[in-house]
Amino acid sequence: MSNPSLLILPGDGIGPEVMAEVTRIIDWFGAKRGIAFDVSEDLVGGCAYDKHGTPLHDDTMAKALEVDAVLLGAVGGPKYDKLDFSVKPERGLLRLRKEMDLFSNLRPAQCFDALADFSSLKKDVVAGLDIMIVRELTSGVYFGEPRGIFKEGNERVGINTQRYTESEIARVARSAFELARKRNNKLCSMEKANVMESGILWRDVVTEVHEAEYSDVELTHMYADAGAMQLTRWPKQFDVIVTDNLFGDMLSDLAAMLTGSLGMLPSASLGAPTENGRPKALYEPVHGSAPDIAGQGKANPIACILSFAMALRYSFDMGDEATRVEKAVEAVLADGKRTADLLGEEGVTPVSTSEMGDAILAALDASL
Ligand code: NAD
Repeated sequence: MSNPSLLILPGDGIGPEVMAEVTRIIDWFGAKRGIAFDVSEDLVGGCAYDKHGTPLHDDTMAKALEVDAVLLGAVGGPKYDKLDFSVKPERGLLRLRKEMDLFSNLRPAQCFDALADFSSLKKDVVAGLDIMIVRELTSGVYFGEPRGIFKEGNERVGINTQRYTESEIARVARSAFELARKRNNKLCSMEKANVMESGILWRDVVTEVHEAEYSDVELTHMYADAGAMQLTRWPKQFDVIVTDNLFGDMLSDLAAMLTGSLGMLPSASLGAPTENGRPKALYEPVHGSAPDIAGQGKANPIACILSFAMALRYSFDMGDEATRVEKAVEAVLADGKRTADLLGEEGVTPVSTSEMGDAILAALDASL
């Protein structure tokens, strides 16, 4: 059998810096665990524009469609702010998501005990938190037609359309039920069925998929506004949450911030399973290219490293190895190692990006 294949797209700003630490961990798996990946690397975002005049070359897109998983750093930066919308760095990322048809966006909100003080919520509310938000990513109000700003009589009117088909709801629901089965077997579906027809359909279809295929999973429904309230009141009541594109955009940001720093947050975007059973998949940290600290060795590589751990779990079915990486990160944090974004405690000297990588590699060695 051939090795699992990975396309690495470091991108711009701190992207290459944090991805360098992931590459060291990939090499560690080859050397110490006998798990080799076929890794190729290419350009996306501003650096691709500089070389090819486009933020994602067709050849790179073709490679992304061939590999088992894509790992992306970050794109963008002030140098590209004035570019035409059609060639902005972010268009490269959007093209990847669209052409890979990545409809299921996984955003974990996990609070490492050592960082519980970083949350704006009380320590006991967030310590040990581990929830997953699944956001529908390719449909809903961000894509529905008609859309635009139109003239109506004497004034302008802005229109967007919330539109979901049954199959779009069913496929993201299945992806969330599957995840719940790998976790604590609980799924909460959020919509606004009290005021939106698309919400009524959402609730119906999720219920139908549950009854037909996933009755072993505990399913609850909640209105999305009440969900936001419950997420801040007692987030540990949730395991997996599934919701649409718009509500997911907000609820996943809210949940993510329960845990502290942007430098800690991984994500995965998954498509339908391919012939080999693996879904099309893109893994990336939630943060951007952080131009304010790029090139200074200050970036926290953990979000990118945890994104690779998600790849191990969701693309390669290597849950134990994913846990090994997560535990290594946890051990390093418990040991007091902090990049500058995680400072707060008096008298702690920050470590650099590569020193954080060194510490995580040492913790991985210790796990053997
Ligand atoms: P950002 O996430 O890049 O940075 C926000 C703040 O968080 C900055 O102060 C930054 O220094 C800090 N930060 C972010 N990641 C960090 C890390 N790993 N370690 C330490 N500190 C970290 O968001 P922004 O400043 O709004 O955007 C900068 C650029 O990134 C823009 O061009 C934006 O369009 C782009 N962007 C890209 C993505 C992506 O590639 N997915 C996402 C968001 C923003």
